[in-house]
Amino acid sequence: MACNSGAATGSSLHPLDSLAGQPQASSRLTRALLRPSHAYLFVGPTGVGKRTAAMLFARALICDQRGCGTCATCRMVLGGGHPDVRVWDVPEGEKTFKIEIVRELVSAVQRRPFQAERQVHILAALDQTQPAGANALLKTLEEPPSSTTLILLARELENVLPTLVSRSQVVTFGLTPPEAIEAHLRAALGLDATRARLIAHQAEGRLGRAITAATEPPAPPPLIELPPGPGLEAIAWADKLAALPGPDQQLHLAAMLTWLRDAAWLAAGGNAERVVRADDMARLHGAAAARPAEQWVRLAEAVEAAREQLERHANAKLVLDHLARELVGR
Ligand SMILES: [Zn+2]
Repeated sequence: MACNSGAATGSSLHPLDSLAGQPQASSRLTRALLRPSHAYLFVGPTGVGKRTAAMLFARALICDQRGCGTCATCRMVLGGGHPDVRVWDVPEGEKTFKIEIVRELVSAVQRRPFQAERQVHILAALDQTQPAGANALLKTLEEPPSSTTLILLARELENVLPTLVSRSQVVTFGLTPPEAIEAHLRAALGLDATRARLIAHQAEGRLGRAITAATEPPAPPPLIELPPGPGLEAIAWADKLAALPGPDQQLHLAAMLTWLRDAAWLAAGGNAERVVRADDMARLHGAAAARPAEQWVRLAEAVEAAREQLERHANAKLVLDHLARELVGR
């Protein structure tokens, strides 16, 4: 069973210690194992590791030894095959959780656990739940069966019904510094220094995203292409970028930002060993020799500003036209 308080001293609960880069969430959940609540709300940006944390927490909740990682229960949970741990995702091709799915979840919650003493339901995108669905969920949170723990995942608290927030234990997940991600990729996944640094920077504080990138076959990093010249050339560059889907625009601009920061670093006389885009060293050295560091910093800031505007769903064509003019110095 889940409660075996004899072993619960301090932060020695190893399975949740492995929530690398999320020390607060990790200690919060470790303490929560002593007296599990019926509902948790994990809040944080996409890709910071909320789902991984939910699976580790679920495992710790239903394993006899608080998530030993080796028993049959633990292996079944992480393999996705334990009948008492269920993840509810938005169906492929749909944007929101429909009320029907929430109803199915609500009735599953009322059932008794199949094997363990507790069952855990993880709702992967609470902020994509339609209002009717959120209301249906509210009833369950008001009168939860004692053998159930719900883990709700959301990107931002603002998009969650306040009554749902107040009935859950909120656990916040933040961004992780790139150095910590890099260290984790090297220690836990055995990545070499160059690849770990590149992935850590491209992950932008999101350990989950970094782990996904590290475990996929390495794709060549995008070649950074700045607008070749002003006028029509700059417009053509912006058109090409604006035609990409939003996430691809962000990826491209993020890669460009890394590259521009590297150029600024080298132009300022920084140590070449700290360069993230070590795969593009020749072009970076050329860039650093061509312009002073302040100019590269200014260009990086322009890219950053464009990314923020695109994140707020500004008109992509206008934003990128403006960026193109900034990058070529008008
Ligand atoms: Zn176990």
